[in-house]
Amino acid sequence: MEFITQSTNTLNKNSVKLLRQTAKTDQEFVDAWISETDDIQSINLNGVDLKISPNGIFGEVEIPSESNIEEATSRLYASIFAALSHYPDYQLLRVWNYVPKILEASELQGFKNNYEAFNSGRFKAFQASYGKEFSDSMMPSASAVGSSSKILRIEFLAVKTNVTFLENKEQTAAKNYSNKYGQLPPLFSRGAIYKNLNQTLLISSGTASVVGEDSVHSDLYDQVNQSILNLRILGSQFNLKRYDIDYGFALEDAVLLRTYYKNKEDEVFLRKYLKKLVSPDCKLSFMQADICRDELLVEIEAVFVKKGEFEQNGKEKYFLNDAGKIRTESFELHIAEHCNLRCRDCCNISPLNPQKFMSVAEIEDICKFLKDSIQPDLFKIAGGEPTLHPEIDEIIRIIKQYEIAPQIRVVSNGLLVHRMSEYFWHEIDQLTISNYKSAPVKQRSLDLIKEKAKQYGFVTNIKYVEQFNEIFLKEPFTDQKEIQRIYDDCWMRHRCHIIRNGRFYKCTRAAYMDDYLCILKIDSKLGDTTYSEADGIDIKQPDFKEKALFYLNNKKPLASCRYCLGVSGSLRDNVQLSKKEIREMVE
Ligand code: SF4
Ligand code: SF4
Repeated sequence: MEFITQSTNTLNKNSVKLLRQTAKTDQEFVDAWISETDDIQSINLNGVDLKISPNGIFGEVEIPSESNIEEATSRLYASIFAALSHYPDYQLLRVWNYVPKILEASELQGFKNNYEAFNSGRFKAFQASYGKEFSDSMMPSASAVGSSSKILRIEFLAVKTNVTFLENKEQTAAKNYSNKYGQLPPLFSRGAIYKNLNQTLLISSGTASVVGEDSVHSDLYDQVNQSILNLRILGSQFNLKRYDIDYGFALEDAVLLRTYYKNKEDEVFLRKYLKKLVSPDCKLSFMQADICRDELLVEIEAVFVKKGEFEQNGKEKYFLNDAGKIRTESFELHIAEHCNLRCRDCCNISPLNPQKFMSVAEIEDICKFLKDSIQPDLFKIAGGEPTLHPEIDEIIRIIKQYEIAPQIRVVSNGLLVHRMSEYFWHEIDQLTISNYKSAPVKQRSLDLIKEKAKQYGFVTNIKYVEQFNEIFLKEPFTDQKEIQRIYDDCWMRHRCHIIRNGRFYKCTRAAYMDDYLCILKIDSKLGDTTYSEADGIDIKQPDFKEKALFYLNNKKPLASCRYCLGVSGSLRDNVQLSKKEIREMVE
């Protein structure tokens, strides 16, 4: 199986058979599972319709059910377990439950509503099938939303590969919910990671505005943001570290986002808002449905593909589009290379950099160049600390004037947001704040950001950062295999393209490598050339696009990768360096 995404748009291929297709938006399929081969067996076992392919089983089963939801749920799950027992190599991965009148009072004694009765039925079925052998490693990722019909319906996906089921470190595992949420708890994990063909995928459960075990926020805007934050936390490297996984999934890695919303009138806002949060290649689908608690207005589920592996499907990731430009995910400019903080492991060695602002004229020249050559989905105004730049409003005006990217994001540590102009708030599309444990943003600044985001409609990502990856090395790697592995896993080569000092680089680390080595007096020769010349392309070269395409698609590591851990460095606490420590580093 593989996911339908913009770039794997294989739905029209006759050779591919559809296993599942549940929603359409603007006549496009948006939530589909495709078998890799024609070799699909359709069979009904124990009342469950199964479509079986070599790498996955999609199943569906339903039953009319108006009164005894508990019993109906137990019966359906028992049939699923019985059907899957014929295929012991396949493991239940993801379950979609559609529960009739989920929030209505249950006719059964002891349950507040039909959702509680459903949870009880599911729990009993798991227990009856697995007994004492039931463990966390068997808890599928799942969602349960309301259905207006009188049919209880369950769809599921089972896969052959190993699955790691996940919890979210900020949420109570559902199985441990207190009896405030029913006699027997909901049984599901918050997400699952598994391999599908060449891709590593994270498939999340239905994710709502819940922290710990309780619902938080009453208005839609806050609930959407909390749900998105929960998805970000689920896929974050900090969360996955608990499972000995040394990578993470960002929201930009989402290829499918499915949103359930309670009130019809909220759909317009959700469509507009969520589109700004994800990459243009992410398929969005929307479905009106009751969520499992009265107070919840929205629930979001997502599928993420691990960055770095995405292009391994035979096609080159970078090519010239119809406009003759190279489409990229993201481009950034470091408009101020220095910073008002001194974080250890700063990606751009800002604590070691002298004060340096890019001039407005230089930025305009770069925009003119980009206008003809590169078309990023996102333009990041970053640094160092970009809000230190006295002409940031003019810089935003120029970048917008040249229409380089549909979205502009400012990436900041948030300490100076109180100085931003109304023009700034009005013009930005996205604001990412790294709220560092060692230098937290004041609450009144966070309140200001929220107020302005609501007023002007930009999207925010407030990241609480406790730990950083180690990034640079003092001694170079010599093991080519290790360098290649780090490079292969490194998503920065796709998401951190930059122009610095007249050269285009596929990552920011390479753009600073000469400075890093020079400041730390590391003697590293590359023959007659420098790291900047080896890893960056002069943007004035007449054949820039040709060279850039080869460079971006090249599977060989950069020269700079010898001194860089990419995104594979171990995590250590975020701390601020003292001036003395910095002096000692550079002297
Ligand atoms: S706030 Fe960001 S740019 Fe500034 S030192 Fe810390 S990591 Fe570097
Ligand atoms: S230098 Fe290599 S490993 Fe480091 S960020 Fe760039 S591409 Fe990734």
